[in-house]
Amino acid sequence: MRYVIVGTGVAGIAAIEAIRSLDKKGEVIMVGDDPHGFYSRPGLAYYLTGEMHDKGLFPKTRDDYARLDFKYHKASVSKINRFEKSLLLDGKTPLPYDKLLIATGAIAAPLTVPGANLKGVVKLDHLEDARHILSLAKRGRTAIVVGGGITALELTEGLLARGVTVQYLLRGDRYWSNVLDEHESRIVEARLQEEGVTLHFHSEITEVLGKNGKVSGVRLLNGQSLKCDILAYAIGIKPRVELAREAELALDRGMLVNEFMQTNDSDIYAAGDVAQVYDPASGRSVLDSLWSPAREQGFTAGLNMAGQKKPYIKSPPFNVTRLAGLTTTIIGAVGHGLDEDIVGIARGDSETWRQLPDASVAQSGFDVNRIRLLVGEKNLIGAVVMGDQTLSMPLQKIISGKMDISSVRDKLLTQNAKIADLVMEYWSNYVAA
Ligand SMILES: Cc1cc2nc3c(=O)[nH]c(=O)nc-3n(C[C@H](O)[C@H](O)[C@H](O)COP(=O)(O)OP(=O)(O)OC[C@H]3O[C@@H](n4cnc5c(N)ncnc54)[C@H](O)[C@@H]3O)c2cc1C
Repeated sequence: MRYVIVGTGVAGIAAIEAIRSLDKKGEVIMVGDDPHGFYSRPGLAYYLTGEMHDKGLFPKTRDDYARLDFKYHKASVSKINRFEKSLLLDGKTPLPYDKLLIATGAIAAPLTVPGANLKGVVKLDHLEDARHILSLAKRGRTAIVVGGGITALELTEGLLARGVTVQYLLRGDRYWSNVLDEHESRIVEARLQEEGVTLHFHSEITEVLGKNGKVSGVRLLNGQSLKCDILAYAIGIKPRVELAREAELALDRGMLVNEFMQTNDSDIYAAGDVAQVYDPASGRSVLDSLWSPAREQGFTAGLNMAGQKKPYIKSPPFNVTRLAGLTTTIIGAVGHGLDEDIVGIARGDSETWRQLPDASVAQSGFDVNRIRLLVGEKNLIGAVVMGDQTLSMPLQKIISGKMDISSVRDKLLTQNAKIADLVMEYWSNYVAA
């Protein structure tokens, strides 16, 4: 049996771990076009700020790879020939497979205005992008960052940490409005302003201005021009579905898979940022751009490829991240309902967060330590924890375990409820029982 994995990200690596847990003898081949192989993409944010160095980005040792016993081809896959069950590497070398996993991830959605290909216009997908940004930051003194999610803030923080003056452009009237509530957005914005970032709301770029092939500024929809040496954008992501499209595999925005991570070709699986996975909670197939789901999907795909029929159970997505220096955990559905902006999923983001199911909101804490809960009939459905993270783990368990919170529900929803104390009391009782 020959298993071929396309993509050296966490989904691909997890698939190999799963295959090897069941099949010690089969041949496993990984193909990837990133010169650095497998590394932590979330770590790139800390690499930009200087808090993490090259070594810290690479979680696996040579021994780990040796134990997994697979061959690695540094190549780009240019075609899947489903009828011959073979890939084409770098447009010339065929590679036959018995079972194939597509784990090609996603890339930053491109900036499509005139001038977007000028030097100094950057995005943050790969380690090479991060290195490029750092080399520009040495010379550039002013940057404009555009985009509404986590990566745009990571770019802002990284550039600030390197002494670059940053102006941050937002399309709407507040930061990340389809996931955060107004108060949370304002907390993040105030902290950015304290760090010296100039915010521009209702701002959309219509043209990137340049001089001698390099970016020199941007023109906005309202006619205003702003100067900069670097323009960094993070305006959403695009799953890398080109191979699947050409091979006529089932697609929506990502590659559609069933609960066994299988595409409409029973020998081809997909996992991670490229896959669009059925979510029983919403009855829709959703995109996640999160490390843990990518790993879990990859592992599930590997088990199924090696013959163990195991469904992927999508749990409420969570992310512990830093928003303008403030540790923030986002769990489950916390948004304001599905809107037309749903396509604009960003890095480290989940479409599930944007859902607002039938739930009431409980919130407390109005400075930097803040908790917002989405309270359903009997369960908690989502939470945003900003600042103090004591409750982050218990809330993750309460939400993903669909624990019955009837005993505290009414108290949580009373005005001025001490939510942190109530959740802690509930959790302590559960742990003691
Ligand atoms: C800057 C940044 C910050 C992030 N922050 C967070 C965070 O805070 N929390 C969180 O949970 N998630 C975060 N994420 C998202 C998380 O890293 C991804 O969800 C996860 O890495 C997806 O893994 P993957 O294996 O699906 O894809 P990837 O890691 O994207 O790997 C796909 C690989 O496939 C290769 N490939 C693609 N096409 C081909 C081809 N045709 N031939 C050969 N190789 C190919 C690519 O080069 C790439 O190496 C962040 C991502 C970035 C970039």
